[in-house]
Amino acid sequence: MMATDIKSDIPKQEKKRKYDVVILGSGPAGLTAAIYTARAKLQTLVISGNLPGGQLMTTSDVENFPGFPTSILGPELMMNIRQQAERFEAVVLDDIATQVDFKHEPFRILTTSTEFETDAVIVATGASPRKLGLKSEETFGGKGVSYCATCDGPFFKDKDLIVVGGGDSALEEAIFLTKFAKNVKLVHRRDKLRASRILQERAFDNPKIDFLWNSVITDISGDKKVHVVITQDVESNETRKFDVGGIFIAIGHDPNTQIFKGQLDMDDINYLKVRNHTYTSVEGVFAAGDVHDHRYRQAVTAAGFGCMAAIDVVKYLEEKHYKSTN
Ligand SMILES: Cc1cc2nc3c(=O)[nH]c(=O)nc-3n(C[C@H](O)[C@H](O)[C@H](O)COP(=O)(O)OP(=O)(O)OC[C@H]3O[C@@H](n4cnc5c(N)ncnc54)[C@H](O)[C@@H]3O)c2cc1C
Repeated sequence: MMATDIKSDIPKQEKKRKYDVVILGSGPAGLTAAIYTARAKLQTLVISGNLPGGQLMTTSDVENFPGFPTSILGPELMMNIRQQAERFEAVVLDDIATQVDFKHEPFRILTTSTEFETDAVIVATGASPRKLGLKSEETFGGKGVSYCATCDGPFFKDKDLIVVGGGDSALEEAIFLTKFAKNVKLVHRRDKLRASRILQERAFDNPKIDFLWNSVITDISGDKKVHVVITQDVESNETRKFDVGGIFIAIGHDPNTQIFKGQLDMDDINYLKVRNHTYTSVEGVFAAGDVHDHRYRQAVTAAGFGCMAAIDVVKYLEEKHYKSTN
């Protein structure tokens, strides 16, 4: 989409409220940012989006977020962070931002119910792991179906595992999982990999990894956890059954940036471009977490970026205020 003025496209809403800062997204990045901006006495609105609490709401045990020596459930962690932000009077609104105008100040954000104005924005809308689209994948989410080897690998000690995908991420995940698993079978829909040559060599050399080519996953089953994965050969239609302890889906992520097209600069895979850590292409609009970071993709790094963006917002608004009064 061209970078056009969409201001006139935003329908007039009756309700209109102004905040010092509006944070889009309520995952670890957005809610951590809210703790910092609200504690710094900025009127803070968090718009939580269609997944209040973010990706960790879809998982059970989180063992690598510092401060919880015996692990914590993802939803419990996110509820704690939300309460911490609300304690400092951040307003968390369960609504979805549908349109933004960052071309004029104050910035405008339209949700499904209200229009807001603000002097600063933190975009923390995250990224969604791509799914296979099977019903059984939903049923076993967090019960043997995973989208993150760094997060869940240690739960799969001595198991036979399947990794789905053919790019760098899939191979990195497969290689990492061999630290824990008995065996890793990489299932790929084509007859060759897209991954870099060096990763391919490492995977081919790893005695714990084998490959199933030209194949897709058609079903996942089990009782309380995954026990069986069914594959189908895309050429012969032959189906095969594998007894496994888990399946890692590594077919990519989609950053939640659709509503920023034409407003904020993005890279060729639609992640927000940042400079100077959290600054986007628009002065006053900052980015935090998985929406720009496709390297680390962890709750603690997202929270760290949220903190950084909030500190940058506080400084930005202080300077703006100073300039306007001197
Ligand atoms: C199943 C699973 C298990 C994981 N386990 C771990 C783990 O054990 N340890 C770990 O460190 N990491 C784990 N991760 C990764 C971790 O969850 C992410 O790195 C982290 O949540 C990213 O935080 P974020 O705040 O950037 O984005 P997200 O958590 O993705 O949150 C994005 C937020 O933006 C909101 N949003 C999106 N669009 C809009 C919109 N238009 N308007 C308003 N809001 C919007 C969403 O509703 C959501 O609240 C896991 C991920 C998954 C999927």
